[in-house]
Amino acid sequence: MMPKEPLGSPVVWLKKFYRGLDEGEVSVPCGTCNACCRDFDEIFLTDEEKDKYEHTVNEAGRAMLARKDGQCAYLTEEGCTTYADRPHNCRQFDCRALAHCGLFPADFPNVNEAVQHWEVEVKTEEEKVLGLSLRLAARASIESGKDPFRASADAIFGGYAMFARDAVKMVRDRNKTDGPRIVDQFGKEF
Ligand code: SF4
Ligand code: SF4
Repeated sequence: MMPKEPLGSPVVWLKKFYRGLDEGEVSVPCGTCNACCRDFDEIFLTDEEKDKYEHTVNEAGRAMLARKDGQCAYLTEEGCTTYADRPHNCRQFDCRALAHCGLFPADFPNVNEAVQHWEVEVKTEEEKVLGLSLRLAARASIESGKDPFRASADAIFGGYAMFARDAVKMVRDRNKTDGPRIVDQFGKEF
């Protein structure tokens, strides 16, 4: 069992996450965890990448990283042997997205454990609203039949979370007593 680790502010995380995507690489404090290298059977390669790595092709004809012993072919006891030059998809995965959205991928036990080890902590009203918005949007996506990964992407890229955060901030700035009341009301949804 991985020891618990604070997840930190969802506001700070979301800003860094968006910036990381813009720059082509999200920075995740993975430590010795390699759960996502062991669990996913489909890590897609871009057209430019497919001749660079050992790969297989799925039913739809898309290139995916080759797997050995149920894990990525590039994973060894020492970690990823192509880490400095790892594929685009590996650079953009951040399991904290699932944790912030309150989503636990049951079909992927190692990633599930990694997600569970993040300890959510929200202190400010803004953080609380953003956290709740992500969870609400993710839940709506799950209820429409999406898997946890798709649902977290829907929540994070849907703009819903940022909209909710900014809306409450506007109300709070206009009337200092209204912000906490709205946050409390919103919190009762959970
Ligand atoms: S599951 Fe999360 S913490 Fe573990 S290696 Fe992947 S991104 Fe890092
Ligand atoms: S290429 Fe490296 S980072 Fe990507 S899944 Fe394989 S071992 Fe993990």
